[in-house]
Amino acid sequence: MIGPRESVSGAHFAFTDRWGGVSAAPYEALNLGGAVGDDPGAVGVNRELAAKSLGVEAARVVWMNQVHGADAVVVHEPWGDRPVPETDAIVTARRGLVLAVLTADCVPVLLADPVAGVVAAAHAGRPGMTAGIVPAAVRAMTGLGADPARIVARTGPAVCGRCYEVPEEMRAEVAGAEPAAHATTSWGTPAVDVAAGVHAQLERLGVRDRERSPVCTLESADHFSYRRDRTTGRLAGYVWLD
Ligand SMILES: [Zn+2]
Repeated sequence: MIGPRESVSGAHFAFTDRWGGVSAAPYEALNLGGAVGDDPGAVGVNRELAAKSLGVEAARVVWMNQVHGADAVVVHEPWGDRPVPETDAIVTARRGLVLAVLTADCVPVLLADPVAGVVAAAHAGRPGMTAGIVPAAVRAMTGLGADPARIVARTGPAVCGRCYEVPEEMRAEVAGAEPAAHATTSWGTPAVDVAAGVHAQLERLGVRDRERSPVCTLESADHFSYRRDRTTGRLAGYVWLD
């Protein structure tokens, strides 16, 4: 259910896999996405199950309405009855507030400066990475007192550069914005490696403590993959401070 989980100086990072929930096919089982056609009741149960497994309150988890953009929003409390904003990064200095990002091939980016007490969750797909969602998230963190040199960065399961085939023109466009994302599929055609782009951006921003999940969602039967299955569930990445 909860795949890799890590705590660094009071900052917690966790990524889910697809098992341990109640959703039926093609969303089986732990679909955490509310906008993919799954039964909302099942998604609610799954979010409760995941929160329980993490030892947090589901009501303290902040989700996003992700739109492949480059805007980061600072959040101080759960949205409650307010509309969930269209954004691809959320940032907080509120301890105990749990930030969540949904993905199925895109790169979930979790960031924390435990000293400043600032965390961020970002959704970096190909368009968002290219548009600069990761630098936007780091800028929003530094605005709240974070120092990139102290930021711990973890990226979760995502489609890898050997699987993410794109047209030649698209690869050129992405690599023009972020050269590190230039890739080739295992069968020799143009590809992009979004996570490599994310890590290159973080490195240039001065974020040294970085780790990339070795899991490729498209290759893993234990993870949702949009490119593989089209109609499918969403994984979640969670980050919070004690
Ligand atoms: Zn792969």
